[in-house]
Order: sequence, then structure tokens, then C-alpha cells
Amino acid sequence: MNHYLQYCKPSLSAALTSIGLDKVYHRAEGQYLYYSNGLGAEKQVLDLLGGYGAVLFGHNDPAFRQQAVDLLQANTPFHHQFSIRNGAGALAEKLQPLLRKETGWPEPFRCAFTSTGAESVEVAIKHSEMSRGQKLELLSKQSERALEQLGLAFAENTTLSLALSEAQAMLHPELTNASSDQAIAYVSKHNASVLQQPPVFIALEHAFHGKLTTSIQLTHGIMYRQPFRRLGLRTEFVSIAQLERLCHGDTTWLDRPSLLLPKKTKKGLVLEEVAIPSVAALLVEPVQGEGGVYALTEADAKVLHRVRDMLGCPLIADEVQSGSGRCGSFLAGSQIGLKPDYVVLSKALGAGLSKLGVVAIRSGQYAEGFDILQSSTFAEDEMSCQLAAAYLDRLAEDDGRALSTVRELGEALLVALKELHQTYPDVIKDIRGKGLLLGVEFQDQDHAPAHLIRTSAYQGALGYLLTGHLLNEHGIRVAPPASAGNVLRIEPTILLTQQQIDELIYALERMCLALRYQDTGYLMHF
Ligand code: PMP
Repeated sequence: MNHYLQYCKPSLSAALTSIGLDKVYHRAEGQYLYYSNGLGAEKQVLDLLGGYGAVLFGHNDPAFRQQAVDLLQANTPFHHQFSIRNGAGALAEKLQPLLRKETGWPEPFRCAFTSTGAESVEVAIKHSEMSRGQKLELLSKQSERALEQLGLAFAENTTLSLALSEAQAMLHPELTNASSDQAIAYVSKHNASVLQQPPVFIALEHAFHGKLTTSIQLTHGIMYRQPFRRLGLRTEFVSIAQLERLCHGDTTWLDRPSLLLPKKTKKGLVLEEVAIPSVAALLVEPVQGEGGVYALTEADAKVLHRVRDMLGCPLIADEVQSGSGRCGSFLAGSQIGLKPDYVVLSKALGAGLSKLGVVAIRSGQYAEGFDILQSSTFAEDEMSCQLAAAYLDRLAEDDGRALSTVRELGEALLVALKELHQTYPDVIKDIRGKGLLLGVEFQDQDHAPAHLIRTSAYQGALGYLLTGHLLNEHGIRVAPPASAGNVLRIEPTILLTQQQIDELIYALERMCLALRYQDTGYLMHF
């Protein structure tokens, strides 16, 4: 029995076997992966998954590989934590002009390095709560001062009482006819409990922000989140339309607790209500990958900015998959004018060879002291940072030729896929995406006449069935996004050629015909 199946992923391996995806790849070069067919022949697979976005220039790009070899041969330090790390510093400096230009913020960005996408999201979340905590500290002091003043006012004038609004009298009946001591004790307890409330995070429908214990709470796909729902972190998953309604005063889905701050006014002694920053962060992916390949628009970006300003929380752009050039600009968000306060990058930034992530926080939002609290053994290693710096240089070469290639190839692929959609509207529901992050959504097959197609659609697994078919019949590797089983995600490398686009379209067309005529024999004949 294969050891991977035996010791690592028994359930997943069984699933891979059932749909013909149980390949053992022994070599990866450029756009291709290679496996042995069991009869001694090497089979070549065109990889259109690009390491789910981590491989933009192809597998084992010769220049990046040589750089890694040179760094190893030069005995470059890997583990020199707790020192001044020049590689991390140089990479952070190289990121500055890109981040400023693409976010529109004129200020520097502070960079916290990590090893993976989910870790980066967790660092961003942690920072947002630290900075919310600092704001709450100030409010707590304000509350203490106001209560002291209230005590003095009551001492000076024993007949003084609180002038409550109608709503306050209803919400806080204990305050009506309360003695001065009772009023002070009540307001003090109320404020202390409001300041203790856990933060709320807002994420979008279809969001995917990782699978660690905190980031999983921000990932919408129920299958991944459900078993861990008791672990905490309150997240509201919303649509842009819901956020727009929030801007117009519909706060039904969002608690906005307020402190009660006693204040002397002409009307007497009143309780001013000051909303606390209850939302720690608003998270978005400018192009959602795992949720089904959905791209935000310019209008969406405007709504997100309004909500950020209204709630006083940072806007976090999770560009782990969409960023680092994948969508045709360094940040996918820059194409829609998105102005995030934090940018999270990982995947492709590691040049396809290193595991690295970064959370870049604009300095105006940086919580002083965070860098002392946050560290990770493998973060900031010299090799990853130098490879990432070389990756940024490659993107910038020849006036950004790589990025224009991504845009051109993406456009050619999109046009070809849209033509296919027009020919097979009964099979293909939608074509979406940006640059080299595209998705093909299939029509619902829940009522398909063919049993196999119907049951796999019913289990949300149609995309997996089609993935097995494309790999075995056509030697093309794609896969559904993590939370959208009826979508095929196409994430090729920059080496893609027109001939390969034609090959993909040919394979997809045959597959569309098989779905149209419910030919399960063709789909499953491997
Ligand atoms: N955020 C986004 C947008 C992602 O696409 C992913 C991975 N698909 C992650 C976070 C998590 O990254 P990792 O798998 O490296 O933890």
C-alpha cells in the first residue's frame, strides 16, 4: 500500500484514486508535471493549476533554481533569528514602491513576514485586534474619566439626576430612579462589559482565507468551517449588497455596542453614547479563488471603502492568490481602485520555490510594538526573501513585460472560453476571472438523466469528475476551487502558448459534448 495513503491522507487518497487523480509526480519542469503510467512510460501533464497560484513562471524556473543552488552553496545563513536580517529588509524595501503605487497610499508599509498564506492572514487578524485593543484602551480611559466627573457632580449636587432619552430608559430601566451610587455602578459595569466584547470580523460570501484555527473562521465554505465552529472568532459573511445597505443605515445584522459616557450639557446630565470599534477588520479577496473565482468591481471597491470609513476598521486585501502578478497587475485590487490598509501576499511571491508570506500594513495603521509580539521560526529566512526579491525583479523586467504577458494570455484564454460558453450555454453557466486566474462554472446537473453525472453533481463533485477526465484523457491538470465543486479553476503559468489554449478548448469542447449527450462512458473511460 502506498505510504501516503497509509500514513498521511487515507480519505483523500481514496477519493483521488476513485476519480483517477492518484498520480505520483516525479518531475516538474516549466508547465509540465510527469508521472509514470506503471508500464514504465513517462506521461506528461500540462499543469494548468500552477500550484494553485504559487507558480507563475513555471515549475523549477531555471534562473530561480540556480539562485537557490547558489545561495545554498554559499552557506547562506538560514536560521539567524534575533538579528538584523538584511534579506527581509531588502525585500520589504523592494515592496514599498509597488504597494504605494498600487494601493494609492503615500506612506510606507511595515512588513511582517510569514511562511504560508493562512499564517499571513492570521498575522493580519492578530494585528487588527491589537490595534482595536489600543483604541479600546483610550476609550476605557475616557470612560473612567467621565465616571470620575459624574461622581464629583453627584457629590456637589445631591439632587442631580441623569436625563435619560426615551430609548435609554427602555434599554437601561435600572437607571430610572437610580441613586447616584447605583447609576455610577451601572454605567461602570455596562462600559466594562462593552469593552470586553470579542471582536467581529466581516468577510464576503464565498470568502477563503485559509484553514488554520483562526483563518478557517473567515472561510465561508461550510464543509471546512463547520467542524471547527466552536473554536471562536465571530465572523459575519456578507454580500456587497448587504454592505451597501449598511452604509444606508441597515445595521440589523451587525451589533454596534456603545459606551455610556456621562456628560454635563445644557439639558442636564446626559449619557452620551459612543460606539466602540466592534469590528476588527473587513477582509476581501479582490479576485476570490477558492470560493469559485469571483472578481470584485470598481463599484464594490467604493462600497468597501465607505464601510471601512464608517466602521473605523482596517480593510484587509487578501491577495494570497490573486496578487503577486497572477491577475495581470502586482495587486489585483489596483485594477478596481481598491485602497486596502493591509495587503496579504504569499504563494507566487516565493518564485515557486520558497514558502513565504507577508502582511504589509500601512504605517498610519501600524500598532506600535506588534513586531515584538509576532515572530515565527521560519519567517524572514534569507533564501525565501532573496528569491522573492528576484521574483519582483522578474516582474519589473522590460517595463513589466511579464505582467503584460499575463494580461494578454489571460485575455486570449478568456475570449476562447467565452466562445465555448456561447456554443454550449446548456452545459457552461459562466466564465469568470481576471488575468491567469479563471473559472468555468457548469450548469446544474442535479436532474441530469445519466446517473453518474446526476449523483456527482448532487454531491457537489461534478468538477472533480471532470478533473479526472481531463487529466486521464487529455493530460491536462485543472481542479475545482476548494469551495465550488461545479467550477473548474484554470490557473496556468506565464509560459502558456496559443497551441495549449487550443488544446484546452478542444478537450473542454469534447467534455461539453459528453455532458450535453450525457455520455458517461466517455467521461469515465480511463
Ligand atoms: N487566502 C487565500 C485567498 C488563498 O487562496 C489561500 C490558499 N488557497 C490562503 C489564504 C491560504 O494559503 P495557504 O494554503 O498557504 O495557507
